Amino acid sequence: MKQPIWLLLLLFALNIQAQTDAETLRTIYTTSLTNGKSYEWLDYLSNQIGGRLSGSLNAEKAVQYTKEELEKLGLDKVWLQPVMVPKWVRGTKEYAFIEASSGTTTTVNICALGGSIATPYGGVKAPVVEVNDFDELKALGKEKVAGKIVFFNRPMQPDLIQTFEAYGGCVNQRYAGAMEAGKLGAVGVIVRSMNLRLDDLPHTGSMSYGDLPNSQRIPSAAISTNDAEKLSGMLALDKNLKFFFNQTCQQMKEVQSYNVIGEITGSEFPNEYIIVGGHLDSWDLGDGSHDDGAGCVQSMDVLRLLTESGIKPKRSIRVVLFMNEENGLRGATKYAEVAKQKGENHIFSLESDAGGFTPRGFSFDCSDAVFNKIESWRSLFKPYLIHYFEKGGSGADVGPLKTDTNVCAGLRPDSQRYFDHHHAANDTFEHVNKRELELGAATMTSLVYLIDKYGISPISNNEELKD
Ligand SMILES: [Zn+2]
Repeated sequence: MKQPIWLLLLLFALNIQAQTDAETLRTIYTTSLTNGKSYEWLDYLSNQIGGRLSGSLNAEKAVQYTKEELEKLGLDKVWLQPVMVPKWVRGTKEYAFIEASSGTTTTVNICALGGSIATPYGGVKAPVVEVNDFDELKALGKEKVAGKIVFFNRPMQPDLIQTFEAYGGCVNQRYAGAMEAGKLGAVGVIVRSMNLRLDDLPHTGSMSYGDLPNSQRIPSAAISTNDAEKLSGMLALDKNLKFFFNQTCQQMKEVQSYNVIGEITGSEFPNEYIIVGGHLDSWDLGDGSHDDGAGCVQSMDVLRLLTESGIKPKRSIRVVLFMNEENGLRGATKYAEVAKQKGENHIFSLESDAGGFTPRGFSFDCSDAVFNKIESWRSLFKPYLIHYFEKGGSGADVGPLKTDTNVCAGLRPDSQRYFDHHHAANDTFEHVNKRELELGAATMTSLVYLIDKYGISPISNNEELKD
């Protein structure tokens, strides 16, 4: 018997209504793995554009490229948000060697730290003092530090499972090493690379002089972990060896750049914003595939995957590609400032800035009550091996949006290999796995879907949840 058309339409509508959250997540993951765009975008960003240090031509190319790609998605709005950013340039390739008392020299691999000044013209050569931390440095005092190159050699702690914790335990050497050594009259700083394995690649990253006068500002560079071991070993045998390094980096005038933003405007609560993002700038040694090209293309795909999966968000969903996370955080600061001026209510902000590896879950910065609500969705993620739901930090770019009541979160991929690549010349496209990247995009999309559907109010209608 033939059904009337209105009945078929009603049955169809009821069927859409009845799609459970579990089914919706299945659709999202299937779409990402069979029809994702994140990998293709990353290929272009990494291989056609490359490293995107703030203020560089490549950074501007990345702004134009991602804006154009977002425009192709048929979002409600795509725009550029102007922001002034620092411009630091590396100059010619750095050069360094260890000179033993006997006069023999051994070349080692270094790179200038971002923000560092150049060495004096022709380089600097001086005896070396090795320290593990600022306490040891201060105990040596001016007498033993003045005129020397300070070598910070505290390794990342290998027995920590969360490698970001190991990073956090070391990074003050890189960030503030030159500041502390400069106060004591040192002439240069060499920092062991933030890398858990032994290899030949130096890892750059930002450093600061704080408000030190120019007279106390000294050049600082990272040395590869293999060469840090070598220098330490040689120093143990030959206290009078010297270290030479040459670098020509410099800080230029600030330049205009942009955050890239796209939006699907919410159908019911357009004034409640959910954002997903990563940072578009990267260090210059590699092509910034993991840090943070991956987070950018995943965030772009979140909006596309929602649409492709037939989801019409109730709230406004934005992708924000932040400029200048690595050496200034200007993009994030600007975005939060404008959001505040406009009184935009950002209920949920999710950042992907921990590499494009297999997703494990999320870290949430929110109240216990909201966290309990979000954690009740954990079983929906079980089929995708997503299990990590913990309270903790979110990310540098979404941090400025945190209020007492909203939620900021970070995607947490597996982190064991991240610091093999972080800020080094091997942060390149071939080290990102397509499926892992796509699983991350699907995981982010799934969480955004649930947040959009149920909101973040701890007492709201969680009982709608179907599995
Ligand atoms: Zn990053």
